[in-house]
Amino acid sequence: MRIADKNHSAVEMVQEALNKAEHFSDHYIFTYINTENALKKAKEIDEKIARGEKVGRLAGVPYALKDNFLSPEGETTASAHILEGFTSPVTATAVQKLEDEGAIMIGRTNMDAFAHGSSTENSYYGPTLNAYDTERVAGGSSGGSAVAVALGIVQFATGTDTGGSIRQPASFNGVYGFKPTYGTISRYGVVAMASSTDCIGFFTQTPEDMDLLMSIASGQDRNDLTTLPDYYVNTESKSAKRVGVIKDFDNESVDEEIRDALRQKTEMLEKKGYEIVELEMPALKYALAAYYIIVPAEVASNLSRYDGIRYGLRSEKATDIETIYNDTRNEGFMPENKRRIMIGNFVLSSGFYDAYFLKAAKARTLIVEEYEKAFQKCDYILTPVSPNPAFKLGEKVNDPVAMYLEDVMSVSLNLAGVPGLAIPAGKTREDNLPIGLQIVGPRRSDKNLLAFAKECIDE
Ligand code: GLN
Repeated sequence: MRIADKNHSAVEMVQEALNKAEHFSDHYIFTYINTENALKKAKEIDEKIARGEKVGRLAGVPYALKDNFLSPEGETTASAHILEGFTSPVTATAVQKLEDEGAIMIGRTNMDAFAHGSSTENSYYGPTLNAYDTERVAGGSSGGSAVAVALGIVQFATGTDTGGSIRQPASFNGVYGFKPTYGTISRYGVVAMASSTDCIGFFTQTPEDMDLLMSIASGQDRNDLTTLPDYYVNTESKSAKRVGVIKDFDNESVDEEIRDALRQKTEMLEKKGYEIVELEMPALKYALAAYYIIVPAEVASNLSRYDGIRYGLRSEKATDIETIYNDTRNEGFMPENKRRIMIGNFVLSSGFYDAYFLKAAKARTLIVEEYEKAFQKCDYILTPVSPNPAFKLGEKVNDPVAMYLEDVMSVSLNLAGVPGLAIPAGKTREDNLPIGLQIVGPRRSDKNLLAFAKECIDE
């Protein structure tokens, strides 16, 4: 991480990032640019440096913040119309920790509204364009953050990953994207999607930067009772020997070049002395179905708080309490938000709870156990992130099931709570689109997983 010092002033670094953000404004990366506050903070850091005072580990480093992290700088809208006009009185724990180390937010990034989606096309503000091909999607839901790092506007950006929203856009734009073990980073002050699978993480250009950010942002937080006792910084280093590959993922529904990239990577690791273990994980075939029941159920519950009274938008048509609720929610949510609210309420309703929600919860247990068994046979698992490289804008947005199928290789990690890192693994031959692979580890293996990622870089 390049931090500010006597030779590189924070003001210069921030100004450079702001200029780049402006230069790439046709990619629709940012929903808000934080010019004034950012330059003011940068100046304060430069003054500290000039006085010889101690500065933080991220002194003057400009970063991009996904639009679902609460902070008083700019409106927090989660790229949804219903939150327009909402300025948060609180700061998310993760944001506070970054800022305490001197990081400077230069803008909020575009996302699928409420993080529902895999392309950033569900944003109220319109889609972010891919860093490598502007006719293609950025991936999602954290599309803006991935592109901000891929285009070198910032050295890092924040993301949230409920079912792949960090890893898939990272892979579509050729950067590192990490979803830690559930509970590693506090969710306090982050707009909730599905509380039992939501994870906070980052996009970076290197595993080393990721490790630094994890050391800073991880840890127990009394404002989020699901956070784990601090383990990240205290992890003992353990080197890996066996790398698993999942047999069922090597099939025709996965792009040929992605399968080739996976093969090349395992061959490289084999040459370095790693043992490659073939895994059968049949329970993973239930992951997508279970995810698209459990997550909408939690979404329906978490989105019930947006009622036109407490946050953001209130419909101008509304005449009484009933129409305030109905018209505001009708105008303020995107079609995908509404679809999930309806599915969620359906699977939780008394007549269908046993048939859907309960079954999905049981499938989830099988998936948790499947990963536990797999990690008795290997240290890490290497898989594709998604079945294809970045697809064309408009290709899937009107076909929800096609869009959901994008997540077939990413959602099981969230259901099991295990960490996953998307790593860049070359480009497609014809279109020069980034290919991503995913390293999956056991719970709380995060620090060693990031160390292993360095082993996976081509020499
Ligand atoms: N694409 C997945 C979904 O639409 C994951 C979203 C996320 O991780 N926030 O649910």
